[in-house]
Amino acid sequence: MSTDPNCIFCKIAAGQIPSKKAYEDEEILAFHDIQPWAPVHLLLVPKAHIASMVEVGPEHAPLLGRMMALGPRLMREQGVTNGFRTIVNTGADGGQEVPHLHIHFIGGPRPWNKG
Ligand code: 5GP
Ligand code: ZN
Repeated sequence: MSTDPNCIFCKIAAGQIPSKKAYEDEEILAFHDIQPWAPVHLLLVPKAHIASMVEVGPEHAPLLGRMMALGPRLMREQGVTNGFRTIVNTGADGGQEVPHLHIHFIGGPRPWNKG
């Protein structure tokens, strides 16, 4: 599995930087965003370093499928029962700040801080 020693989400995935984890398996980590937009704001990341959706190829389809299928389950576990947003920012114009692929799952009762 390829990781980038300078990447903050690789460090979080490796446990070198602490995070509030919601789920973990061999391939995927879910943790709470440090600046949540809403009562529940999870980030789902692959443990392997994939910089963004631009780098995604057919070989990643099972992993991305698992991440998309996992999100709703985790939101339910976090008590989200009235819907949520699913966001992937890609590249500079896409507003991506951390160059390690992540899926935002954002929900909980409104009003939200953002979004
Ligand atoms: P982006 O704008 O790249 O889609 O989203 C990056 C997200 O990562 C932001 O919502 C930001 O709050 C979150 N984030 C950045 N650094 C950290 C960190 O060290 N820990 C956690 N838990 N979240 C982070
Ligand atoms: Zn990374």
